[in-house]
Amino acid sequence: MSEEHCDCLFCKIIAKEIPAEIIFEDEQALAFKDINPQAPTHFLVIPKQHIATINDIEAEDCQTVGYLQLVAARLADQMSFSQSGFRTVMNCNQHGGQTVYHIHLHVLGGKAMGWPPYQETLKTPVSE
Ligand code: AMP
Ligand code: ZN
Repeated sequence: MSEEHCDCLFCKIIAKEIPAEIIFEDEQALAFKDINPQAPTHFLVIPKQHIATINDIEAEDCQTVGYLQLVAARLADQMSFSQSGFRTVMNCNQHGGQTVYHIHLHVLGGKAMGWPPYQETLKTPVSE
C-alpha cells in the first residue's frame, strides 16, 4: 500500500490489515460483506486500485470500474438472485452519502426495493 492511501479503510481490507468477510478476490477487485447490511444480501465490490470518488475516475480506469459491475452480476448469479433482481449503487461525496473514500459498488439483493431512495428528511439542504 502506498503511503498516500495508508489511512484508507478499504486499502487496509485489501492488504488484509483489517478483517472482512471476503466473498471474491482476483488481481483487480475484491468483494466482501457490508458490515451494516441494508438488505438480506449486501456486499461491496471494490477495485484494488485506490480511487477516492467517482469524480476521480480517469479514462484509463473505465475497464476497472466497469469490471466491478461484472463481478456484481456474477456474484448475484452465484447467490441465485440475479434473475429476481438486485441493485448496485455507488455513492459520491456528501450528498450521495459516501462515507468511505475508496470507490465501492454496493450490491443489494434478496428483497424487492423501493424507488426513489430520496427521503423527506433529506430535503433540508445539507450544509456545504
Ligand atoms: P458509503 O456510505 O457508500 O461510503 O458506504 C460505505 C459502506 O462501507 C457502508 O455501507 C458501511 O456499512 C461499509 N463498511 C464500513 N466499514 C466496513 C468494514 N470494516 N467492513 C465492511 N463494510 C464496511
Ligand atoms: Zn483505498
